Amino acid sequence: MIKELNEICEVKEKADLTKYNTYRLASVCDALVFVKNIEELQKVLEVIKKYKSKYFVIGNGSNIIIPEYYNGVVIKLELKNYSIDDDIVTVESGCMINKLANELVNLGYAGLDFACGIPGTIGGSIYGNAGSFGSDISQTLISVTVLDGNKIKELNNEELEFGYRTSMFKTTKKKYVILRAKFKLTKANKEELLAVCKDRTEKRIASQDLNHPSCGSVFRNPEGNSAGRLIDEAGLKGYTIGGASVSYKHANFIINSNNATSTDIIKLIKYIKKQIKKIYDIDLVLEQQIIK
Ligand SMILES: Cc1cc2nc3c(=O)[nH]c(=O)nc-3n(C[C@H](O)[C@H](O)[C@H](O)COP(=O)(O)OP(=O)(O)OC[C@H]3O[C@@H](n4cnc5c(N)ncnc54)[C@H](O)[C@@H]3O)c2cc1C
Repeated sequence: MIKELNEICEVKEKADLTKYNTYRLASVCDALVFVKNIEELQKVLEVIKKYKSKYFVIGNGSNIIIPEYYNGVVIKLELKNYSIDDDIVTVESGCMINKLANELVNLGYAGLDFACGIPGTIGGSIYGNAGSFGSDISQTLISVTVLDGNKIKELNNEELEFGYRTSMFKTTKKKYVILRAKFKLTKANKEELLAVCKDRTEKRIASQDLNHPSCGSVFRNPEGNSAGRLIDEAGLKGYTIGGASVSYKHANFIINSNNATSTDIIKLIKYIKKQIKKIYDIDLVLEQQIIK
């Protein structure tokens, strides 16, 4: 399989994924492939199908828990371009959303400004309907172009089953590859947008644990409640299993405090869920993706 993949695009065999996930979990996969266009992606998927290999698309790895060994192919999309036409931005899925958001703000466009501090790609952010400060991806997304098997399809916002930190890519259409998306922008005052982004960045720095590797919030907020507050009030700040700890600064962050493995993180997640169920009779729902 590796030989055939090598004929299509750049391949790293037995690749170390540590720097490709923001938990900085040490992880190795059979092959990491860097895909530069849709044709290459289609060919890579053909080979994967032929060899019945497992695979997943990785964005910036800021919402995933990856195992120490992933016996399959990890696809990295080197598709990062965007263009603006008549208040509509069309952007490829490998583009970082925070980079795009900052560039749009500097051009005086509102619409993705909520994402200034989200360290993920457009693809990963659509997958999980990323959001913050009361806004999310679904609010300005017009449509996405996906690869379904070998078919390229354009799907409208209403078809994507968006909900709080979820979409159909997370629930029923797990094998669709998001290729690009269109967002509706609004012209706004650049200085005001910059001030809002600055204020939000300061709030993130004040409240989030940005000094340790993490994947941001671990659990969704239960309706009308805050996962972080529940975990804090349950006395779990600092609770550690192996190299994974509940952050002292933000109780809904798990940090890699000392060479954590995915097993440490998953055990800690289970422990937190058990405690919150026991104390408050609330079932916390995981926001992050466990890659198997
Ligand atoms: C410090 C910090 C702060 C954060 N703050 C926020 C926040 O405010 N709001 C928020 O919502 N999130 C936040 N996050 C979490 C994370 O950044 C977002 O969920 C982000 O959108 C994930 O994007 P990613 O590219 O890293 O996805 P990844 O983690 O790489 O992937 C997530 C899932 O998406 C799938 N995927 C990725 N690309 C594609 C594609 N092209 N096609 C199909 N599937 C794909 C993957 O297979 C995986 O299942 C934060 C994380 C950190 C570390």
